[in-house]
Amino acid sequence: MTDSTNPETQVLHAGWRADPSTGSVAVPIHQTTSFQFQDTGHAERLFALAELGNIYTRIMNPTVDVLEKRVAALEGGVAGLALGSGQAATAFSVLNLCQAGDNIVSSTDLYGGTWNLFANTLKQFGIEARFVDPADPDAFRRASDARTRAWYAETLPNPKLQVFPIAEVAAIGRAMDIPLIMDNTAAPVLCKPLALGAAVVMHSTTKFIGGHGTSIGGIIVDGGNFDWEAHGDRFPTLNKPDPSYHGAVWTQAVKPLGPIAYIIRARTCLLRDLGAPLAPFNAFLTLQGLETLPLRIERHCANANRVAAFLAEHPAVATVIHPSLQNGEAKRRADATLRGGYGALLGFELKAGAPAGRAFIEALKLLYHVANIGDARSLAIHPATTTHSQLTAEEQAASGVTPGYVRLSVGIEHIDDILADLTQALDAATKA
Ligand code: PLP
Repeated sequence: MTDSTNPETQVLHAGWRADPSTGSVAVPIHQTTSFQFQDTGHAERLFALAELGNIYTRIMNPTVDVLEKRVAALEGGVAGLALGSGQAATAFSVLNLCQAGDNIVSSTDLYGGTWNLFANTLKQFGIEARFVDPADPDAFRRASDARTRAWYAETLPNPKLQVFPIAEVAAIGRAMDIPLIMDNTAAPVLCKPLALGAAVVMHSTTKFIGGHGTSIGGIIVDGGNFDWEAHGDRFPTLNKPDPSYHGAVWTQAVKPLGPIAYIIRARTCLLRDLGAPLAPFNAFLTLQGLETLPLRIERHCANANRVAAFLAEHPAVATVIHPSLQNGEAKRRADATLRGGYGALLGFELKAGAPAGRAFIEALKLLYHVANIGDARSLAIHPATTTHSQLTAEEQAASGVTPGYVRLSVGIEHIDDILADLTQALDAATKA
């Protein structure tokens, strides 16, 4: 275990030292559905939350627990809840505060799956998402009312890759008693949203945290830094009696355990009722990735800077999108928010448009053509014909996807090999 605040140490030591019964240093995979109670009194205390402990893997598991503690430490939060996917983490992060008739205000610049969840599925639950331009922090205030339960945004949303004004928006929200939930999937280690004022952080651990393209997963981290009782009527799911738990008021009930009302309620109610736990084996694989995350992020960022500079000089390339090349307010925000690099994600526009985009992708030999980001391997995709193909041309343009736009997630291979593959694929695209 460690109380270090250095990410390199936290990802190796937080939440675990060795197995008390075997001495195992690696976190064991507790591949079990359920846990033997010591006696009936023990079982009763666990169910009454008078004592915390393992009951059933849908709700908690010791392997998953270490991952939760480690990511919570990395983000500077008080506790975490791992889930079966990033999508489940996003859904839970909002459903933990909202009921039918409530609303959230969200940045427009979102992963497509999050957009669909907010615009369509939550709408069917009676929860409205109001979308605002992230470049204007005050837009969040203007779109809010008495039924606004949270604000939501991504730290480094692609394809625009303009860093979200976390500190500015969080401060406006705190003055109104509205928490900011940040999706930090694209910028782990580089950005600490909780330290900038966010109340909750979520990740798709599928991406950089897992890092090896093996397991779908998600996690929510409770910052423990938001007063859910301050605004009496704003957070009824947390500060009013919960009929599903003998009338427990979560903010009161968990006080002896620390400022963890938000995450405990997500576990004891949402995970209990909706399921979507992270499997112990996937937690184990994700922990292996997490152990080298800070090291990988360094190399991802160094390689991405080199790729951005290379593409910016290439005659077949019209524009390159990467924070390292931004100017003005976007660059100022990137520099104020990210520490140690500008991330692995990068976009570029080929002068010859969509046919060249396709030819480029098809000519790649080292980079994989997949709908993913954050793998140790370099990845590429042509959004106009894949991830964004269901949108109209106008919608594509509004989201920053033009016909010749290619997205890269720059991996940790040797930079010479990445540049060699890009060079030959750009040659092929130019001839197409
Ligand atoms: N958030 C972001 C920024 C993502 O890129 C993704 C997936 O691409 C998700 C959330 C959803 O995560 P998952 O695919 O693990 O459900």
